[in-house]
Amino acid sequence: MNYQGKVYLVGAGPGDPDLLTVKALRLMQNADVVVYDRLISAPILELIPSGVSRINVGKAAGNHSMPQDEINALLANLARRRRSVVRLKGGDPFIFGRGSEEALHLRRQGIDFEVVPGITAAAACSAYAGVPLTHRGTSRGVRLVTGHFKNDEPIDLDWRALADPDATLVIYMGKSTLRRVCARLVSAGLDPATPALAVQDGTLPAQRRVFGDLLTLPGRVKSMALDAPLLIIIGRTVALAGELEWFQPTGETSHAALDQRVGA
Ligand code: SAH
Repeated sequence: MNYQGKVYLVGAGPGDPDLLTVKALRLMQNADVVVYDRLISAPILELIPSGVSRINVGKAAGNHSMPQDEINALLANLARRRRSVVRLKGGDPFIFGRGSEEALHLRRQGIDFEVVPGITAAAACSAYAGVPLTHRGTSRGVRLVTGHFKNDEPIDLDWRALADPDATLVIYMGKSTLRRVCARLVSAGLDPATPALAVQDGTLPAQRRVFGDLLTLPGRVKSMALDAPLLIIIGRTVALAGELEWFQPTGETSHAALDQRVGA
């Protein structure tokens, strides 16, 4: 049979359903099947019509997510049988989302796909936390890095480049390595008093924020028991949150070290 469907690699944004793109919503509503993982928030899942099949690859058997090669194979198989397969991913599919691995697999299998960008956690969580990623005179660039490394693997990042006081550093998946990352930034020359922020469940009513600096943030994240998904933002613009706060979640904020002396 020649009939073959298409896989849409769709970014669902960080959690607030209002941050879905119009295209993402339209595709979800017209899908034959939606394949999603654990970052997709409940209010977004509620927007999938009840007749559409859903496959959760974030928590397959037990608590483990489905291995990536199985997800790749699943998407290809579904596209051979269905018209429209929506692969729903948190944030943006091409930013730490493995969307590119899935796209490469589909291309090699000769299966059509489209990529629908989503609002990545760095853009959304910073905005909802009242932190601009750039600010004239304060930060002239942004770097997005992963803090996820296998247990005993050394954290292999370019510390000199990352320890840039004129740029904002955003760390995805950085909960377990936060203490080591902050220490390495300080050894690479970044001022230990550089403002830093951790945001849990950014953009959702449950959003929680903890402010500190390179020395205090790891301890505060621990004592406040912040949990994944956690985004870390480091840089002078974090200090603007005191003035730029607008989003009122139900989760608590630790303002202890909110330093308002930006640019001082
Ligand atoms: N593709 C996604 C990132 C996937 S990696 C994107 O573009 O946003 C998963 C990491 O993203 C989490 O460990 C966390 O660091 C970050 N993240 C995603 N959504 C988040 C949210 N709502 N709040 C805080 N961090 C989030």
